Amino acid sequence: MATTKSATKAKKAPETTEIAEESALNELFIDSLKDIYWAEKHLTKALAKLVKNATTDELKGALETHIEQTENQITRLDQVFESVGEKAVAKKCEAMAGLIKESEEIVESTEDGSITRDAGIISACQKVEHYEIASYGTLKTLAGVLGFTEAVELLDATLQEEKQTDEILTQVAESTINQSAKSEKA
Ligand code: FE
Ligand code: FE
Ligand code: FE
Repeated sequence: MATTKSATKAKKAPETTEIAEESALNELFIDSLKDIYWAEKHLTKALAKLVKNATTDELKGALETHIEQTENQITRLDQVFESVGEKAVAKKCEAMAGLIKESEEIVESTEDGSITRDAGIISACQKVEHYEIASYGTLKTLAGVLGFTEAVELLDATLQEEKQTDEILTQVAESTINQSAKSEKA
């Protein structure tokens, strides 16, 4: 009898810990969602500014496509919040605020209409995409662990877009910009 009791007790304790861990993980998931929600919202404005300042049509086009995707990603995040029964709230992402500031500094420190400015803008945007890839990768994993299947699908769709954008930016840089920028004077 005593053995059975202690066995029951031993079984109960980890269950409680599991629930606590799950709710802490859930909190981390929701906090991270709020963070990327803020980031995406501010990115639409930041990307629009970069389009205006970009030199080549190739880069302008790539950025314009990604502005449309970003707007759609915000809608997807609204759906993620809804699917897990949370209100969609944005919480300042200090990292994205810093990355956006860096992109502005690059524009300020390069010549208007130069290919060098495009090279700098690409660099800034790829840093943004890498932050997003890391964020959505984590969010997708957390959603999976927490059993949010709809959220997993939504987050993965955005993750793929961010990866694709990173690759497109590499192509734009390799095909024209880095070559032409070499011959520009400082
Ligand atoms: Fe995004
Ligand atoms: Fe952040
Ligand atoms: Fe992106």
